[in-house]
Amino acid sequence: MSDNAPRLTPMYRQYLEIKKEYPDALLFYRMGDFYELFFEDAETAARELQLALTSRSRDEGGVPMCGVPWHAAESYISQLVEKGFKIAVCDQVEDPKQAKGLVKRAVTRVVTGGTVLEDANLEAKAHTYLGAFLWDEAAGAGAFAWLDVSTGAWTGLQSPHKEELRQWVLKMAPRELLVPDKDEVPLSFTSTPGIQVVRLPARSHFELPQAKERVLAAQHVQEAAALGLEKSPQLMQACGALIAYLESMQKQDPAQLAPFRPLEKGRYLILDEVTERNLELFSRLDGKRGAGTLWAVMDHTCTPMGGRLLEERMRCPWRRLDPILRTQEAVEFFLARKDIRKALREALKNVYDMERLSTRIALNRCQPRDFAALRESLRALPAVRDALLLPEKGRFSTEDERRGETLPEALRLIVKKWVGMEDIAALLTRALKDDLPPQITEGGLFRPGYNAELDELLDLAEHGESRLQELLGEEQQKNSMPKLKLGYNHVFGYYFELSRAQQTSPIPEYFQRRQSLVNSDRFTTPALQELEEKMLTAAERRKSLEYRLYQELRATVAESRPRLAESASALARLDFWQGLAHAAEKNGWTKPELCEGQHLSIHQGRHPAVEAVVGRSAFIPNDLVMDEKRRLILITGPNMAGKSTVLRQTALIVLMAQMGSFVPASEARIGLVDRIFSRVGASDNLAQGQSTFMVEMMETARILRQAGRRSLVILDEIGRGTSTFDGLALAWAVVEELSRRAGGSIRTLFATHYHELTGLAQTLPGVCNMNIAIREWNGDIVFLRRLIPGPADKSYGIEVARLAGVPASVVQRARDILAQLEAARGKARVAKLETAILPGLQPRPVPPATAPAPVHEDHPLLDALRALNPDAMTPMDALKLLSDWKALWGSPSQ
Ligand code: ADP
Ligand code: MG
Repeated sequence: MSDNAPRLTPMYRQYLEIKKEYPDALLFYRMGDFYELFFEDAETAARELQLALTSRSRDEGGVPMCGVPWHAAESYISQLVEKGFKIAVCDQVEDPKQAKGLVKRAVTRVVTGGTVLEDANLEAKAHTYLGAFLWDEAAGAGAFAWLDVSTGAWTGLQSPHKEELRQWVLKMAPRELLVPDKDEVPLSFTSTPGIQVVRLPARSHFELPQAKERVLAAQHVQEAAALGLEKSPQLMQACGALIAYLESMQKQDPAQLAPFRPLEKGRYLILDEVTERNLELFSRLDGKRGAGTLWAVMDHTCTPMGGRLLEERMRCPWRRLDPILRTQEAVEFFLARKDIRKALREALKNVYDMERLSTRIALNRCQPRDFAALRESLRALPAVRDALLLPEKGRFSTEDERRGETLPEALRLIVKKWVGMEDIAALLTRALKDDLPPQITEGGLFRPGYNAELDELLDLAEHGESRLQELLGEEQQKNSMPKLKLGYNHVFGYYFELSRAQQTSPIPEYFQRRQSLVNSDRFTTPALQELEEKMLTAAERRKSLEYRLYQELRATVAESRPRLAESASALARLDFWQGLAHAAEKNGWTKPELCEGQHLSIHQGRHPAVEAVVGRSAFIPNDLVMDEKRRLILITGPNMAGKSTVLRQTALIVLMAQMGSFVPASEARIGLVDRIFSRVGASDNLAQGQSTFMVEMMETARILRQAGRRSLVILDEIGRGTSTFDGLALAWAVVEELSRRAGGSIRTLFATHYHELTGLAQTLPGVCNMNIAIREWNGDIVFLRRLIPGPADKSYGIEVARLAGVPASVVQRARDILAQLEAARGKARVAKLETAILPGLQPRPVPPATAPAPVHEDHPLLDALRALNPDAMTPMDALKLLSDWKALWGSPSQ
C-alpha cells in the first residue's frame, strides 16, 4: 500500500484489520457475489490465475484489485494452493440485510497444501499428509506424527534416534511439515521439493500441557493411555501441534480425526525413502511416474480407498506371518473365483471416495454433488455384498455357503459384520433429486414428498396463480357470485372485485371492503390474505427451509461417519485384495511361501516392472538361492548384463510377498525380512543430480549401522563414484563388514564390476559368487541375462563399448591399453593395493604367479625377438617384420 493513501473507507479499514492477521496468506474477501483480492494479493492472484487486474476509484488511491465469482472460488483456490500459496477465505458472517452499517466479516477457513479437502488438490489413490516434527535435545528424544486431513487417518512415532525420525519424515513426505519455530531443521527437510516446512511458535503449538489437553479433547478420551501416548511426551506434543494447526486452518473442531494409534514399527517391513526410490516403487529413477514402476503393474484397484490402501501397504508391507497369510488367502480366493472378482469390480466402479466425502460432509465443506456421490456409493453396496456371495456353480450346495461361512476368514468377517448403511442410502434416495444443482443456494435439492412444508412452498411458488384461481372459483360458487373477479395492484395487492350491478344478494361478512370505485367494490378475505402472504414469502421461506433441511440432512449423515468409515475400510480391503488377484492373473504371478527362517530362494524370478515394459516373452527369468552358505552373493558381469535388474527384482519379490501379494516367480520361498536397504552407486543416479560420492558413502554408512539379522541389503555398484582403487577398497571393506555383522546373518546381494572382489568368496564365510552369463559369438557378445554360479570370467566393458558404437580405432586402442594394464597389474598394483591402500584388510591370497617356463632353445627367431624394441616401431614396421618371419620360419615344413 502506498504511503500517500488517502483516508480509507470503512471497508478498507476492515479489510486491513483482517489482512493483518494473515500476512502470509492471500486474503479472499467476500463482497456481494465476488471474492475480491486487494493490493499485493491482487497482483499475485492476477499473475498466477491470469485474471484482469483492475483498480478502485481514484479517491481510494487506485488500489489494485481483482476478483472471482464466489461460486467459482473453489477452483481458483485450488489452483493457488497447488502453486504453494496459503489462502484465507473471509466471508460475510451476518446477513447483509440485517447489518447496520458495514457487514461483519471474518476468516472462515484457511486452505494450505497440507489441509486441503477438495478432490482437485488431492490424488485419488495417494495419501496427502500434514506432518509435525520435533526434537527435544534435553530429553534426547523426538517425534514425528502425520495426518491425512482428507480422511482423518493419523499416526506417528517417538524415537531416541533423530536419524530414524528423519528417515520417516522423508519417507512419508508430508506436504506441510510443522516444526517449532526456534528449532534447527535438518537440511534434508527444507531441501526436499515436496515438503513445505512451516515454523510455528513453540509455545502456542507444541507445549506439552496444552498439547495433551487438545489431543484428549479432540479424541474424546480421558487418559493419554487410551491413545498409547502415556509414555511418549514428544509424540503427544507433535499430535497437539497437528490439532492446533488444523483448528486454526479449519476454524472448527477437527471432526474428521480417526482414533490415534502410534505406529507399531514391529509390524512392518521398513523401507526407507532412498530404498523406495531405488526400487522404483512409485516413480522411476528419472522421477517420472507410470510405466516402469511397481505401482503401474500392481494397481488394479477400482476405488480411491482401495488405491490408498495399496499405497500404504506398498510403503509399509508386513513383517509378521499372520496378516500376510490372511491376505494371501483372500487374494487366492479372488484369483480362483473369477466370477466373483468380475462382479465385485463392476460393483466397486460405482463407489466414490467415501472417506473424503464423509470428511467434507462432517466438516460442512461439502457441495450437493458430494451427497449425490455418497448416495451412488451407498446404493452400490448391496451389489458388492451380492458379488461376494455368488454361488460357485450356479447354486449353493450348503446353507453355510449361502451365508458366506465358507469364504476365507478375512472375507467371511466382512460379510458377517456387513455395514450396509441402508438407512443412510434410503434417506439420501428419498431426500435428494437425481440431478442436483452445483450449489445449495440455488435450491431445487429435495425430492417432492420428502417434506410437506417444502412441497407446499414449492407448489405456491410454482402454482400460486392457479391456487388464486381455485380460491376465486370457490368463492364464486359458495356465494353464487359467478361474476366475482380477481385483481392485483401495488397498493392493495390481491383483491376480489364485484360490480355493483352484480351485488344482488348480500355480501358475506368475511368480505372486507377495501376500496370503492364508481361501478364496483374491491374486497379482501382472510383466505385471500393468507394465500397472498404465503405467495409473497414463499421464495424466501423456501430458501431458508431448504437450507435448514440440508443442514439437518448433513448432520444426520455426519453422525453416521463412524459407520461410513467402517464401511469404507471394508471396501478398501476388498478392493485391495481383488486388485492383487487381478494383477496376479494378468502377470502370471504365483503364491510365495513365507517362513521364519533366513532362507530366500526364488525360482524363475522376474522383475515385475521391467517385464511389463519389455514383454513377458522377452524377459529371461532367473533363479537365486540364499541360505546359510550363501548369505552374501557377489554378482559380477559386464555393464548391461542385467545385474541391477536381478538385484531389484529380488528386493521387489520380497516386498510383494510381504504385502500378501503373489510374486513374479514360478516358486519363491522367503524367510521374513524386517528391513530392505537398497543403494545404488553414485554414477547410476546422476540423472537426479543429487548423487555425489558423499551421498553414496553416507547411505552406505547408514546401512552398516542399521542393518540387522533379518535385513535384506541390496548394494548396486557401491564404490563406483570414486577412483578405481579407492572404490575397490571401499567396496571390499563393505563386503567384509556385511559378511561379519549381526552374527553373519544379513542377506546381501552385491553387484559389482570389480573383479577383484570375487576372490573374497574363498576367504569369507557365507560369501559366494554369481555372474550373469555372456556368450561370445562371432566376435560379438550376446547377453544371456542368465544368473549362474561363479565369478564372471572377464570384464566385457570394451565389447559393450563396441556394441554401443564407439569408433573401432578407439575400441582397438582401449584393448591395447587394457592389455598393458593387465600385464602390469599382476605385479605392482595389486601388491600396493593390499598393503599400502588397505591397512587392516586381510591380505587376499594371491594365487602364486605362474612364471613362464624359461626358454632354452636357440633359435634365430628368439634372438630376433630379444633384440626387438616394439615401442620404437611403427605398425607398418611391425607388420613387415611379421610377414618376413612368416616367410622365413612360418611354413609347416620348417
Ligand atoms: P547392469 O546393471 O548389469 O548394467 P541392467 O540390470 O541395468 O544391467 O540391465 C540392462 C538392461 O537389460 C535392462 O534395462 C533391461 O532392459 C535388460 N534386462 C536386464 N535383465 C533382463 C532379463 N532378465 N531379461 C530381459 N532383459 C533384461
Ligand atoms: Mg547396473
